[in-house]
Amino acid sequence: MPLRSSPSRVALVSITSALALNLAGCGGGSHGSSDVTATDAQVIADVTSSNIQASYGAGFNLNATWRWQGTPQPTVTVYIPPPSSTDANQQTYASEAQTTVATINRKLAGLLVLQAVTTQPTSGNYIEVSYGTAYVPPGSTDYASYCSNVSTAPYSGTPIYPDANANIAPVPVYVNLGNGHCDVTQDIVTHEFGHALALSNHFNGFGYGPSISTAFWDVLATLYGNPPLTASSNLKVVRAAP
Ligand SMILES: [Zn+2]
Repeated sequence: MPLRSSPSRVALVSITSALALNLAGCGGGSHGSSDVTATDAQVIADVTSSNIQASYGAGFNLNATWRWQGTPQPTVTVYIPPPSSTDANQQTYASEAQTTVATINRKLAGLLVLQAVTTQPTSGNYIEVSYGTAYVPPGSTDYASYCSNVSTAPYSGTPIYPDANANIAPVPVYVNLGNGHCDVTQDIVTHEFGHALALSNHFNGFGYGPSISTAFWDVLATLYGNPPLTASSNLKVVRAAP
């Protein structure tokens, strides 16, 4: 579905979304942005700003990392509902979600396993892909900047947050893809899974500039390559697989 935007509107949208602390919604990133890489110090700074400093959503500050947990590595169920046979958007989003799951499993091999299922889990926590339910602020028609988001419910702008044990609190975690007026690209879907895996705030290479980047993968690998409840000063940088 085409964007409802004139060229000048697109330019305005990309400026405003770059300036916003964009917890509630995610657009497509800057078109043509080159890759972003991060030094060890920058990776640690990005884990700190995106994850550690975002734990206040729970009403307390852990001052340490929080994320999906499991031994020897977290196995996270991803419920991808069968798309409607008559809805091409749903079919595209379901396919993109499957590709994102495979890519994350490859890039974070040994650190994290995502397990895609097509029936709703009845116990435990999981990620649920939800079609067409992205949060758009009341009165806004800025559909491109609010193309998708991760939240506690469909159509909600509330970000996810940790419990006191540094695990993911909301059950399930919703990945809301699309609002009926924007294109959810493969990179946007992967970006949203970054949020669902507890990268809360955007950083350079994750929503600022491109949707995802080499820096994004290394920040995610470092979050899952260190034990939960690791303080910023104790983080060791872990690079994602190429
Ligand atoms: Zn985002």
